[in-house]
Amino acid sequence: MRCIIFNRVASFCRKVLNRDASDLDHEELALQVYQRQEHGISRKDISENALKVLYRLNKAGYDAYLVGGGVRDLLLDKQPKDFDIATNATPEEIKQLFRNCRLIGRRFRLAHILFGRDVIEVATFRGHHADAKPSLKDKKQVSAQSQEGMLLRDNVYGTIEEDAERRDFTINALYYSIKDFTVADYVNGVEDLDNRIVRLIGDPETRYREDPVRMLRAVRFAAKLDMTIEPATAGPIKQLSTLLQDIPAARLFEESLKLLQSGDGLATYKLLREYNLFQQLFPLLSEHFTEDHSSQTELMIEHILAATDKRIGDGKRVNPAFMFAAMLWYPLVTRAEEVAFTSGLAYYDAFMVAANDILDEQVKSIAIPRRFTTTIRDIWQQQTRFSRRNGKRAFKMMEHPKFRAAFDFLEMRGNFESKEIADLALWWDQFQHGDRNLRHKMVQEINEGGSGAPRSRRRRPQRRKKPQAKSS
Ligand code: ATP
Ligand code: MG
Repeated sequence: MRCIIFNRVASFCRKVLNRDASDLDHEELALQVYQRQEHGISRKDISENALKVLYRLNKAGYDAYLVGGGVRDLLLDKQPKDFDIATNATPEEIKQLFRNCRLIGRRFRLAHILFGRDVIEVATFRGHHADAKPSLKDKKQVSAQSQEGMLLRDNVYGTIEEDAERRDFTINALYYSIKDFTVADYVNGVEDLDNRIVRLIGDPETRYREDPVRMLRAVRFAAKLDMTIEPATAGPIKQLSTLLQDIPAARLFEESLKLLQSGDGLATYKLLREYNLFQQLFPLLSEHFTEDHSSQTELMIEHILAATDKRIGDGKRVNPAFMFAAMLWYPLVTRAEEVAFTSGLAYYDAFMVAANDILDEQVKSIAIPRRFTTTIRDIWQQQTRFSRRNGKRAFKMMEHPKFRAAFDFLEMRGNFESKEIADLALWWDQFQHGDRNLRHKMVQEINEGGSGAPRSRRRRPQRRKKPQAKSS
């Protein structure tokens, strides 16, 4: 033990003596330890399962810390979304300690300890890649970097100090020790938290190149915690934003939900747009962007995100399919008109061709899982059927499993489209809430007034002129 400490001190002295300008910044920072009475984190604010994991690791002789969003949010007096743990035990050692443990991830290997639906994420301290000395055969498994500097594997283990430097932002690199209940701060994170600053650890450009998702995370934390992105951290984002194109679409789907469906979606969207990041995630939508944010697409995005934030604020569930369906609606309408115009297909057929096109294009950047794309398509398809209410049609429509979502969608469209759509939504509102007699009377009126379906719409495209992308 004494030897390890000596080595650490010697290595630190060597670093201090030989350092160059680039690593001067954070090596000058000393470890600051905040005692229990100074930081105000109490064990009763930490989930029982996270405490169980911390204690078990500690009892087995490993170091165990609460880290990341858990500590950050508790210091901000907020309820953490989840609790992440860092330890010097390797994933295999963790697995031996917990029966309910699953090792996951190749790029970033870590342990999930499962307590029913609650998952506690346990990560082994990461080290610096330059220091990794695995055998040649193992090397790719442990550490790999693309030519552009992106980390393809980040499984070099190290000390807590190194782990702190490998984390993304200073506010995310605070360690709450289960042994003595102190908070260890190697990167001046507490000060940044006090000043509400999102600051990347290390050289921003290098850190963004290693993992471009950190750009999204910078914006997410700034919006969610109402913080400012420090200038050096914000500086390279716009220029490097296109690096997001190299990130697997499945990871970007997960990130997009965290960005847009966590309760601060509208603020996050505005900031993402400012940094040219939203455009990378939703290239189809950015074709409809205007200087003054006034296109129908932009109004719809703002509307659906505000509505989503409100639902989350009210403790209601939100469905990603509904949000994606809304955001992509006007690009779909424009595309359907284009397809009808160029192919001569009937509007309904052109609409369904366009729906497939739009989804195929969107999943290239954000891999929306099939269970959601099916719902999105259903919601869209139902929109074409609402106006056809004669005979048994209206009754049949109400039996559709996605009727409720499709109706909410129609009602929402009423805010942006013609009075006809708003009136149609009112009709359906009355119809679904009416009793048998009223429903029959309403349908009878439709029957008498004509087919209830503007048949001409099915045969001809709505507009003959090729629509301009900007106008929608
Ligand atoms: P949230 O409240 O959304 O959970 P979080 O900060 O806990 O925020 P997680 O994705 O749960 O975010 O990650 C836990 C911790 O792991 C982060 O706080 C950070 O220290 C580290 N981390 C996560 N992603 C990265 C990354 N891409 N690069 C470096 N460190 C990361
Ligand atoms: Mg977390």
